[in-house]
Amino acid sequence: MLAKAAVLYLRAMSQLPRELCWVRSHSLDNTYSYPKNMVGLVLVSHSHALALAVQELVRAMTGPDLPLAIAAGAGDDHSDLGTNAVEIMEAVSAVMSDAGVLVLMDMGSALLSTDTALEFLDEQDRNRVRCCAAPFVEGAIAAGVVAVAGGEIDEVAREAKNSLYQKAQHLGEESESAASSSTAAAIADHSVRVIIREPHGLHARPAARFVRDAASHKADVTVRNLTRERGPASAKSITGLASLEILDGDEMEISATGPDAEKALGSLVALVESFNAGDASASEKGPGGAAELAAAAPGDRAIPVSPGIAIGRIFEPVHVEIRIPDSDATNPFTEQSRLRAAIQTAQAALTQDAAVVPAAEAEIFDAQKLVLEDPALTGTAENFIQLENLNAAAAFYRAVAAVADNYRHLADEYQRQRAADIEDAGLRVLQALGVDAGSRVHIPDPGILLVHDLKPGEVSQIDKNRILGVITRAGGRTSHAAILLRALGVPSIAGADDLLGANLPNGTAVAFDGETGELWIRPDAEMAEKLRDRLAQQRARTVAAEASRHAAAVTRDGKTIAVLANLGDPAEAVHAVAQGAEGVGLFRTEFLFLNRQTPPQEEEQLAALQIVARTMGQRPVTIRTLDAGGDKELPYLGASREDNPFLGVRAIRLCLRRPEIFRPQLRAILRAGVGANFRIMFPMVAEPSELIVAQGELTRVHDELTSQNIPHIWPIPTGIMIEVPSTVTLIDQFLPLADFFSIGTNDLTQYVLAADRGNPALPQFQDAVHPAVLRMIDEITVAAASKGKHVCVCGEAAGDPVAAKLLIGLGVNELSMTSPLIPTIKATIRGVSYLNCQTLAERSLDFGSAGEVRRAAN
Ligand code: PEP
Ligand code: MG
Repeated sequence: MLAKAAVLYLRAMSQLPRELCWVRSHSLDNTYSYPKNMVGLVLVSHSHALALAVQELVRAMTGPDLPLAIAAGAGDDHSDLGTNAVEIMEAVSAVMSDAGVLVLMDMGSALLSTDTALEFLDEQDRNRVRCCAAPFVEGAIAAGVVAVAGGEIDEVAREAKNSLYQKAQHLGEESESAASSSTAAAIADHSVRVIIREPHGLHARPAARFVRDAASHKADVTVRNLTRERGPASAKSITGLASLEILDGDEMEISATGPDAEKALGSLVALVESFNAGDASASEKGPGGAAELAAAAPGDRAIPVSPGIAIGRIFEPVHVEIRIPDSDATNPFTEQSRLRAAIQTAQAALTQDAAVVPAAEAEIFDAQKLVLEDPALTGTAENFIQLENLNAAAAFYRAVAAVADNYRHLADEYQRQRAADIEDAGLRVLQALGVDAGSRVHIPDPGILLVHDLKPGEVSQIDKNRILGVITRAGGRTSHAAILLRALGVPSIAGADDLLGANLPNGTAVAFDGETGELWIRPDAEMAEKLRDRLAQQRARTVAAEASRHAAAVTRDGKTIAVLANLGDPAEAVHAVAQGAEGVGLFRTEFLFLNRQTPPQEEEQLAALQIVARTMGQRPVTIRTLDAGGDKELPYLGASREDNPFLGVRAIRLCLRRPEIFRPQLRAILRAGVGANFRIMFPMVAEPSELIVAQGELTRVHDELTSQNIPHIWPIPTGIMIEVPSTVTLIDQFLPLADFFSIGTNDLTQYVLAADRGNPALPQFQDAVHPAVLRMIDEITVAAASKGKHVCVCGEAAGDPVAAKLLIGLGVNELSMTSPLIPTIKATIRGVSYLNCQTLAERSLDFGSAGEVRRAAN
């Protein structure tokens, strides 16, 4: 023990004025009688408050048995920052036993105080103390759990040191040593598999109970998370267990070796079953801690629209009545010219808005400009002025209402959502006419905007510093407002009406995750904290992914997956390369045809495609021929009206009927492909004859170009989009005809599950990981591989990390997605093994719904 003289010396030092004494500290004594022979823990900190908080956290994991003392803070009431060697020595003595004491310190000078304190311990006790360079918070928790489970001092110190592993793994920074310590798996005598059914997974407290139970047996026990391909980790290590990220629905494998192996497994399985029965959640709430959290039950989630987590109070903007002046037109000609001037002003504003959003989204505002030029609107308004003597604002207001109403009665959901675009454009004109149109979104505080639906123009007014996120009661993923929210990076969910109820007061605290659609009303502080952690992790993952976006995407067991970009505009090619695209998996040529009065001529298409060719160099570029129809109507083609445009004369069906449109496009593609690595893909092919006829057209165009001495690429690989179930069932007949296949999961899903891809009421049938769709993909990849042909997926599923794993497991060779998603998907691929993706995909084929697949894969 400490020599008396030394104690006196140190006590005297601690009485000196602060300037002369570099440490003043405090030891919190423990009156509790600790079990003998348990490693003790001492927390040395400059801050008393910090040490108390950490002590509380440790106690929550270990219970009262752990010999634990703190030595922290300076000054009489310990409120100053500092440490005191006397109190450190006293704290060590208070928890000393034959098992030894582990000391954790918060900063460098605490180490000096501790060294000083230890010098005055007698040799025997000094040899029982380990000072550990572990992180203060994580280390204390890890050490406490292992100590209370009966771990020896070296084991306790090792766990404390490795306690950052989970965090480091999340951030992609795990150290070799930490990783290897948790992967040193024993060859197990026995193992069992068990699924955890606990809303928060094997989170801290149940994990601590699991560790304690594992440590109570004479057996080496390891755990693997089969669902997430993590582990093995020692079951006696709280941090190892945490690194496995065992969440609700995950399957764990528990393996044991040693004399008590069977007993250990039985006991641990029983423990997990007790968690599954709600035992762990009960302990989580703690005494009197009835969590106010109202989590949307699984399956009741809103529609995820734009990723990111928002936590804040909701504000519903006050709706300002549109007051249209009711005076008659004194002079119809004056009113007509006022209207024209107002339309021009509104168009100028739209041009300005278009300039500040990404190219692909600017088209929304361009489309609104076209709406304002449309004679169906302006002509109607002018007639109201002439014939009914209305003033400009009243006439235009009525014309807009009539046109929007027509849209609202269309069969197609996507088209119905365009009504909001028309009203939005109309409001700008009314404002230019001096009407208080009340469309400005006013948020009194930084908060979460709650609206019934949002118009694109309102999105452009969103101040990202004041609006933390957007919830729409109605709406879906495909509205133009949703597209803009994603482009702006504003977290958002839609279709939340049922979850919110009708009378949620302004200012209610809510939280949501725009990636999963989860919504919490009045989350408690603990939940809010967890969500902030989740957000920080999401951000850190994005930053890490971006750092390696130019590297190849190779799975842990060496399988390379090509990651390519989907483009709609030639100008996006530069961005795609910058994001790490290895080529273009889908160039949607129809965007060259939208928002105009006549189709683009061959030369115009050639110029656009040459931009892509130049930018992509020798990278592969897949040009999809015109996919018009469905939700991409080209009025100037004069097609007859269809009741079900998605099941109508779309894509290749249209092109084969309109050679005057198809041939110039094929000529442009072949000409632009000179010196480039182009391939051609035909959309929505349903039977082999369509491909044969399309290839015949291509050969004819090639012959024509040859006879005209016009340079062009030849031969050129030709493939098909697989979007129609019939193509899958006839895949063997397509094998000899197509050079490659690209699965359009957006359309394939809507056709397999008979669910309009734009209808917000059917999210569970719009998910491409539905086993019915996965089985189709399986059939395609098996067939294609038998003939050595490549399969790409270019639907939205390719950019979804969960779906991407399944697609890889099913044997898809290439994934193509919107450019901003490329870094994340590449990182996802690097984090998985092909073998495990295969296992996951195989299991998923036997589930009955997309929800079950996601629960197993998440
Ligand atoms: C698809 O259907 O998955 C696809 C990529 O085509 P689009 O979304 O353009 O219809
Ligand atoms: Mg499609």
